[in-house]
Amino acid sequence: MPEVETDATPAPVVQNSPVEVSDGAFVIPDGRVPLVPNVGIVRGSRAVLVVDAGMGPRNGEIVRRHAEELASGLPLFLTVTHFHPEHGFGAQAFSDGATIVYNREQVDELHAKGAGFLEKFRTFGHAVAEQLEDVELVEPHLAYEGAVEIALGGRSAQLRPFGRGHTLGDQVVFVPEERVLFTGDLVESRCFAIFPPGDVDVDGDRWIAVLEQLERLEPAVVVPGHGEVGDAGVIVTAREYLEQLRAETRRLAGEGASEDEVAAELDRRMRELHPDWAQPEWIAFGARWFYAAAGREST
Ligand SMILES: [Zn+2]
Repeated sequence: MPEVETDATPAPVVQNSPVEVSDGAFVIPDGRVPLVPNVGIVRGSRAVLVVDAGMGPRNGEIVRRHAEELASGLPLFLTVTHFHPEHGFGAQAFSDGATIVYNREQVDELHAKGAGFLEKFRTFGHAVAEQLEDVELVEPHLAYEGAVEIALGGRSAQLRPFGRGHTLGDQVVFVPEERVLFTGDLVESRCFAIFPPGDVDVDGDRWIAVLEQLERLEPAVVVPGHGEVGDAGVIVTAREYLEQLRAETRRLAGEGASEDEVAAELDRRMRELHPDWAQPEWIAFGARWFYAAAGREST
């Protein structure tokens, strides 16, 4: 979600061209523009998979055009890392002539929360509302249970659900041949972890455990939901931040600090520790989540 919109805030539009980060694996970099995700494209000899669609039909079209160029006529698949608007609400551009694949939890979550998120995001200023015009929340062609592997020809894409953490339907995409991992918002690069307020499916404790599991995949290339592409160190940094946020929240709560005091103190301290990270407004939401969790544990 964006900070207060100013004239200097670039419109949430996919601007860049695909960059090959490993053999057959491409990223359309977000350029660190708020509400633009890193979009993945994995090309095999028989099919091409797109990971995340961008926000709204026009971004979806931009992503589709890049994918079609790389596919040169090969069949297209689309999946999303999670249902959030900037990752999933461009999916309608793939309704015809491509195959949309979600996990079951993503479908349930889209049904339960999609309309509410659409309404909320439309209040985030003109530039965001503009991209959300004519959005249709479309159903996938395939909804899977468990995990699924798409054979793309010469390389495969493993779609692995890891919810709940950032959302109920969190899914990573792993290309084992190249050890490339697309994480969605489970991992951000130089950006604070996003805890959507009031969403009952966010779970900071499970989130940390999920990141430990992702580290065990030993990825060589990690494509975060937002921010620069890196190696496994990007996951480690994201996990260590959440662990520190949790530990400090528990410590301050144990000393009798109120929720507001904990949120303010950690907001101050984390900004100091990570002066070059984006979206510091999420620190307090994370601290409040761990504060509530600590309260549940002690009762
Ligand atoms: Zn998200």
